[in-house]
Amino acid sequence: MAVATSITRSPKVCIMGAGMSGLLMGIRLKEAGIDSFTILEKAASLGGTWRENTYPGLSCDVPSHYYSYSFDLNPQWSRTFSGGAEILEYFKGVAEKYNLSPHIKFNKKVKNAKFLNEQWHLETEDGETDVADILVSACGILHTPKIPDIAGIDSFNGALFHTSQWDHNVELKGQRIGVIGTGSSGIQTIAPLSNVASQLYQFQRTAQWIMPLPNPGYSRIHQQILQRLPLLNRLYHHGFRIGFELLSGGAIKKAGWQRKLVNRACLYNLNSVKDPALREKLRPNYQALCKRLVMSNEYYPAIQKENVALVTDPIDCITAEGVRLKTGELIELDVIVLATGFYPGVDKQLPHMEGVNGMTIEEAWSNGVDSYRSLALPRFPNFFMLLGPYCPIGNFSVISVAETQTDYIMKFIAEYMKGSFKAMSPKVEITNQLNDQLKAAARTTVWTSGCQSWYLDRNGDPISWPWSGRQFRQHLKELRLEEFDFAPATSTETEEPSKRSAVGL
Ligand code: NAP
Repeated sequence: MAVATSITRSPKVCIMGAGMSGLLMGIRLKEAGIDSFTILEKAASLGGTWRENTYPGLSCDVPSHYYSYSFDLNPQWSRTFSGGAEILEYFKGVAEKYNLSPHIKFNKKVKNAKFLNEQWHLETEDGETDVADILVSACGILHTPKIPDIAGIDSFNGALFHTSQWDHNVELKGQRIGVIGTGSSGIQTIAPLSNVASQLYQFQRTAQWIMPLPNPGYSRIHQQILQRLPLLNRLYHHGFRIGFELLSGGAIKKAGWQRKLVNRACLYNLNSVKDPALREKLRPNYQALCKRLVMSNEYYPAIQKENVALVTDPIDCITAEGVRLKTGELIELDVIVLATGFYPGVDKQLPHMEGVNGMTIEEAWSNGVDSYRSLALPRFPNFFMLLGPYCPIGNFSVISVAETQTDYIMKFIAEYMKGSFKAMSPKVEITNQLNDQLKAAARTTVWTSGCQSWYLDRNGDPISWPWSGRQFRQHLKELRLEEFDFAPATSTETEEPSKRSAVGL
């Protein structure tokens, strides 16, 4: 490693995405006195997930006092698990408070990012170009809607849309509505739809374990007390964090009291379903937490209503009139809601990227998506991914995860500013070693206990942090520059793959 020089320089940083993690990165840079950054946002407004998802019943099943930036806690949360609109308002408020607007460029989807001569050269879809010393992806994990490959899907005469593309112009009152899917989105939307639909059908391919989730509101007095006593507010945040991490972190292990507790709670919830036939249809044939746990107090009461039916016969096709089942039965519908999830992973959201010597991101991930310590990639110098592969996902607060990652990136930027290097990326052999350990541990978790889920990659390996939240913070506590290689001062646009070094750059 080169000896640090006394030169100090301010890097030009480009952040892709103005959702929760992109805003956070911007705030961290501002706190460090770095104003030379741009947030390129593909849409016309900020908010990421909370901008895109507006379906009825949307809320966050991570407690709001924990699902908040630790440095900007909100004493005003209205409920234990607040709704999507309130969460979006929170992020907008934080962006305004930290004056991020001058840095955000809307309707700028990055199309290409090429690393050339120690800098990232970016091109947006509308042809604008930019150059950055440090590139940060804050594109999220679950963003690209998965439209199911069901025959005849384009032939439906009524309204059809994905939960993340809700068409609020469509009248729902008195309509025959079908919801395909039983993930968190599909489950959350059933109760409100059951209040307006004349008939509601939920098409279930796989039953879900559903954890009870009481969601009491906070009184005005409670909010005022937290407003006046910031220390108590902080205590709330940490209390929820500790409780949540203890439960989620422990519950992913195949044995342990947390698993037993979650299993019992889910079973207790299921037993609230009165009709034994319906209860059996709703009973999953795999262990709780194998898929991302769904939480709701409202779903079972709603699915038992007279105007609601759970359909478990497989779908054959969609026709002009509705959904035809493999049994031949046609369920006539006016509206079809696709609660069919997302193509998971940061790889689905990234632009076309070329690292050192023209190495593309597809080539880098040809054997499966991975990362160095959840946020960087060999041969892609000065590039970081917030919520990247192997970060804790699922039943964790992604805000807390992104805070840990941005702290780490800021340490890297501090070294850059000292002049320790111009461009560095993690070493291949260190990355492989770390990933081998992660993969081995992930294979021992409940995620591999016999179900299909978006946690698993194409090889059937979970791409998620298999240990506790505390261990994740420990993992990223120190910047280990000895685990990085310098990028060459100049690099050619392309090079034969065979000529690439197997190690480092
Ligand atoms: P999801 O969990 O991936 O669920 C998709 C559902 O659609 C599954 O039930 C799946 O069945 C079904 N499906 C997919 N293709 C189908 C087809 N061709 N025919 C029939 N059924 C089909 O998606 P999601 O509900 O949008 O949730 C995704 C993630 O977003 C969650 O796991 C969670 O992390 C996050 N989320 C969080 C919250 C929150 O409150 N924090 C709320 C919503 C979403 P199979 O199970 O058989 O594949």
